[in-house]
Amino acid sequence: MKRLVSKVVASEGVAIGRAYVVQRSNLPLKTIDAETSVDAAQQFKKALQQSTAELAALADGSEIFAAHYALIKDESLSESVMNYIANGSSALDACRAACNDYVAMFEAIDDEYLRERSADVRDIFRRIEENISGIHQNPFLDVKEGDILVADELFPSDMAMVDFSKIAGFITRRGSATSHICIVARNANVVAVVGVEGVDEVQTGDMLIVDGELSSVFLNPTQQQMAMYRAKMKTFHEMANNDNQTAHFAIVTPDGEKVSVYANAGSAADVELAIALGADGIGLLRSEFLFAGSDVQPTEEQQYEAYLAAAKACDGRPLTIRTLDVGGDKSLPYIDIPREDNPFLGYRAIRISLDEEQMFCRQMRAILRASTEGNIRIMFPMITTIEELRQAKMLLDRCRKELSDEGANFDKSLKVGVMIETPAAVMIARELAAECDFFSIGSNDLTQYVMAADRTNPKVASLYDSKNLAVMRAIEYVIRTARMCGIDCSICGELASDKSVTMELFGYGLRTFSVNLGAVGRIKSTLLKGLGR
Ligand code: PEP
Ligand code: MG
Repeated sequence: MKRLVSKVVASEGVAIGRAYVVQRSNLPLKTIDAETSVDAAQQFKKALQQSTAELAALADGSEIFAAHYALIKDESLSESVMNYIANGSSALDACRAACNDYVAMFEAIDDEYLRERSADVRDIFRRIEENISGIHQNPFLDVKEGDILVADELFPSDMAMVDFSKIAGFITRRGSATSHICIVARNANVVAVVGVEGVDEVQTGDMLIVDGELSSVFLNPTQQQMAMYRAKMKTFHEMANNDNQTAHFAIVTPDGEKVSVYANAGSAADVELAIALGADGIGLLRSEFLFAGSDVQPTEEQQYEAYLAAAKACDGRPLTIRTLDVGGDKSLPYIDIPREDNPFLGYRAIRISLDEEQMFCRQMRAILRASTEGNIRIMFPMITTIEELRQAKMLLDRCRKELSDEGANFDKSLKVGVMIETPAAVMIARELAAECDFFSIGSNDLTQYVMAADRTNPKVASLYDSKNLAVMRAIEYVIRTARMCGIDCSICGELASDKSVTMELFGYGLRTFSVNLGAVGRIKSTLLKGLGR
């Protein structure tokens, strides 16, 4: 028996099954028959056309493939490959080089969700490369029901070849909790551990135990371990069934107060998934997904379409759109963010938006216009002073006036909220509450600022603890202040998904939790149990 571990929490649950190692055969190193760059360009263009047509067909009904389709249609993708071809590369080499450039760009982003989009890029280029070489692989042909897939990486397009509802789980070397494949896994109740060191030690036919909770994989376990895990699996299934059964329940306290469990979303696809999983709304839509991965800013129209799609998916439930939260060490090619010694204490989030008025107003106009549909709320990240809130609201008013003058419709009573994620915002919670409609506590950032511990620095990981008394006291103060001032308050940081503190937060007066997609059922059932239902 050997234990392989990962530091990533990809899904909950336990799976026992036979390992199936996904083996992708290598594509030829050079494109056959391409002797000149003209030939290579023809080969690439033909493959690009074919891949675009395939993705167009898949995009209908799948947000993931719709995103792939949008990326493949982006002219800069084809231009970057053609540049390499013009410099003498074969079609395949040019694709690989362009793919590496894109992947490097995504991987440099310090936002886990956006970084994970590099898997989508690799997936798109793999499709093009297969169409160039004419070699189409299906490495899943011999997968049997109940198998556990073992791979270096799994891609969204693999889902077309393997029925995820039939496998017991998967483990991969690459990937993070926010990769599309993990989001799908959580939805399909597939147990997954990603970022596993040592996957190459596993062979098809080996016995595996995958423990999502411990982020561990046991290779060829003993009989005793198998028995223990069978019991654990039974308990987990009973609990998960229970959570699923109550995930769509409305929660009301004995004295009639509504308790909402919203979800955090990073794309319109997440919004759809969240609602299907029982979320009462979206407490945080991270709008960064619209801004990364391109050399140019999204237009007002592109943003409007995306917000409208998300609002439609919410079907009348609250949709909280957070304005752009980049900066610090998350860069965008079209914004000049200087290198800083202390990026988390630097130029980020609302500080950039207030400087980049045109970009900020374009986003707010798109949000306002989409607010005719459903129940949209706008939220400003990293507010530190009352003046920042006032300035943001003043610009929002300017956008309202412009739209009225243009005769455009929007929700006149659009709710405006702020994220409480700096100690300064905690200290002025009363003043902020007087000038906004709701708070959402960003416990991820609040923890790093209260504890003076960089959230990305493993050396201070033990200090970075959202359940530390100092952080919990700050949170309690904000919740109580919001209640006293009569405004809504939620938590949208990771802490909201931690069931060990759900009832403590409820005790402080928290009535809205905005949790990870996979935690909706769990937090709802914890609340129901805590309330004696
Ligand atoms: C937070 O800081 O808690 C939060 C939700 O924002 P993000 O994690 O996107 O910085
Ligand atoms: Mg934050």
